[in-house]
Amino acid sequence: VDLEGVAMPGFVDAHIHLSSLGRDLRQIDLRGCRSIEEVKKRIREGLQSGRGVVGGWVYARGWDQELFEERRLLSRWDLDEAVRDLPAIAIRVCGHLATINSAALERLGTELLERFRNFVDLDERGEPTGVVREDAVGYIVERIIEAEGVEGVERDIEEAQRALLSSGVVGAGYMSVSPVELKAIAGLSARGLARLRMALYLDPETLKLLEALGLPSLRGVSIGCADIAGIKVFADGSLGARTAYLSMPYSDDPGNRGAQLLSVEDLVRWCAKARELGLDLAVHAIGDAAIDNVIRAVEETGFRLRIEHLSVVRDDQLQKLAELRLRGSIQPHFIVTDWWVVDRLGPERARWVYRFRDLVEAGIELGISTDAPVEPFNPFETVYAAIDRGESLGLDIARYTRDQGLDKATVLDLYTRGSANLCGLSDLGTLELGKRASFIVVDRDPLEADIEELKKIRVLETYVDGYREYP
Ligand SMILES: [Zn+2]
Repeated sequence: VDLEGVAMPGFVDAHIHLSSLGRDLRQIDLRGCRSIEEVKKRIREGLQSGRGVVGGWVYARGWDQELFEERRLLSRWDLDEAVRDLPAIAIRVCGHLATINSAALERLGTELLERFRNFVDLDERGEPTGVVREDAVGYIVERIIEAEGVEGVERDIEEAQRALLSSGVVGAGYMSVSPVELKAIAGLSARGLARLRMALYLDPETLKLLEALGLPSLRGVSIGCADIAGIKVFADGSLGARTAYLSMPYSDDPGNRGAQLLSVEDLVRWCAKARELGLDLAVHAIGDAAIDNVIRAVEETGFRLRIEHLSVVRDDQLQKLAELRLRGSIQPHFIVTDWWVVDRLGPERARWVYRFRDLVEAGIELGISTDAPVEPFNPFETVYAAIDRGESLGLDIARYTRDQGLDKATVLDLYTRGSANLCGLSDLGTLELGKRASFIVVDRDPLEADIEELKKIRVLETYVDGYREYP
């Protein structure tokens, strides 16, 4: 091939949610809303322009009460003022909390309260406020996807794939793959429409279905260009929702240490399960106490799982993680979205947040990712965030962790080779003889570009396994 521009290995996003990204691209975007009024306005406008209805639900995402002038969570009564006739969900930017309207509560019926009592907020009269958390969010999103049907999920995945390929991503660690998502991937593959290389990390429900087949092992099972790579489980929640599990209380919520979603014993069982099935295990662990639980489970089992996020890491944990040869996926753009983190954790612990340089220097095997749609999927924005760490935006966190910025060469290496290895897609990630020709052509050399130029780099062409997939 005759290329104009600079060729480099394609990016591998080590932790991403393809169908929710596709849904995100079709939904109403609430990012950056400065008030509850603005949330209502954006929803009304989105619906008028024909966007935002997924599986018969109004689907919106990205609000953050920290940005609201009202400084409170969105309630069902707020949402009712924007949508009355259809069920509606507005998911917080972190994905761990959402608000649903009255029509949605009616649609879901008593099952929501019966099954998820602890995750449904009630007011002083015992009425649901519309705020739902953690498992309840997942449950509702599942119901919406069900209503969307497998064709809708296929459309979402295709949409996400198109967006990723056009921005230079050739491979992805697809997290928390549900049964309908697996079916959609199989459908797309059968029709030759799955073009992105994927490593699938199954949610426990999907795993149960596959286990029921009684295969001796799930290692090496592939569907088209998607490999079944591992299992994804959650050890805690998020810093945004104050559900990340901490060893000491939140600085802005004394008495709350967050939520432990899996105990050490649970994690030991998951390690055993993954080993038995020949699979990898990806454990979501953001708070230092959740990471402690993971460390203890790994000490017990010796299973080299991968930790997702590694957001709050104490000094004593760095060495442990390295000793146990744990692997991890990090999300540099979280730094920008979690701009309030110093308030949550206080100045002492702020130094432990997103300490990428320390993780690299400790020798921990890392991959880079966006967790899209939690963060923007554009790799160069992520590269920029890993280097800048919110400094140019004047974020507080930059002052505490200035020394944790990564250099360009390291970020690019972790985002290609590092992520590919982390996901078991080791034929991607470098340009060398014997590997698959999965590379991109960009309009300028990122290693030569100055930091402000980085964000503006354009992807001209994307090749996966030798085929041009973009444009
Ligand atoms: Zn995720």
